[in-house]
Amino acid sequence: MRAAVLTAPERIEIREVETPVPGRGELLVKLKACGICTLEQRLFTGEMKISYPLVPGHEASGEVTAAGPDVPPGCAPGTRVALDLVLRCGVCHYCRTGRSNMCQNRFNANQRVLGGFGEYLVVRPSQAFPIPAGLSFEEAAFAEPIACCIRSLKRVGLRLAEDLLVIGAGPMGQMHVQVAARLGARVFVSDPDASRCAMAKRLGAVAAIDPTGGALAALVKEHTDGRGVDACVVTSPAPAALEAAFASISKTGRVNIYTAYSAKTAIPVDANVLHRSEYAVTGTEGRTERDFHQAVRLLSFGMVDVKPLISRTVGFGGLEAGIRAALTRETYRVLLQHDAP
Ligand SMILES: [Zn+2]
Ligand SMILES: [Zn+2]
Repeated sequence: MRAAVLTAPERIEIREVETPVPGRGELLVKLKACGICTLEQRLFTGEMKISYPLVPGHEASGEVTAAGPDVPPGCAPGTRVALDLVLRCGVCHYCRTGRSNMCQNRFNANQRVLGGFGEYLVVRPSQAFPIPAGLSFEEAAFAEPIACCIRSLKRVGLRLAEDLLVIGAGPMGQMHVQVAARLGARVFVSDPDASRCAMAKRLGAVAAIDPTGGALAALVKEHTDGRGVDACVVTSPAPAALEAAFASISKTGRVNIYTAYSAKTAIPVDANVLHRSEYAVTGTEGRTERDFHQAVRLLSFGMVDVKPLISRTVGFGGLEAGIRAALTRETYRVLLQHDAP
């Protein structure tokens, strides 16, 4: 089978590699689409260190083509699936307490957590989520990032009719907007890019604010009778975004740090303010299988629309150009289509 192998920063080679064989209780999936997420971009540029060579890709979908012995019903060959590539052990403390995104064994040596840029993958049935005929493989490849947004909004405790500010209207910001609107929140977005603001409004934000010049908090307060929002999700790694988050929340406000930072970053809030105003700060990492299941349902029932976020699709031959396009602000998601010429 073909696979796109990252051999060093900025070096991606399309190689012929061995097709995996499903063992007992495993499925062979022929991949159809895989998103080029921030993680793949950081692996490509070398900003994120990992041992080479590796096959990136963690936002994948495809079709089951073979099943090993003892596979439970529901994933017969021909089943179209979205894939959760994190293999959760199911027996560690975090798995047993409903927090399998923190599974202690998810990054064990020799455990594959990527691989979406290859033609085939072997997975457990617990990692394969069937999708309906009406959902394209490209849309299904958004199950992973949507699941991460669901996790994020659970962490920030978003409730019906609350005001939420999403800082950053890149792909993750746009997905947060849609899931939050579905949860019944009034969603505000901030981004310096006018076209991204327009997209956020199209996808359900009630107002989009340009934070340039530092007026974000003041403008948010204008919309909320001077209080500020109940909750805020930070999807932009800009240090100013983190400051703006705390300036924009109301008393008892909650801030969830969704983005990752490439350097050590301190939280810019006075502990006394945190104490007096009853602020809560959370982080978020990955998703549980329940979040993933919920994401697949939202996509399957048309409750979120990710089609506007598909900026471009590429085949193996165009993958490197696709990754470079994904690195620009002109795209939301670029996807690898494994069968494209
Ligand atoms: Zn992702
Ligand atoms: Zn575990």
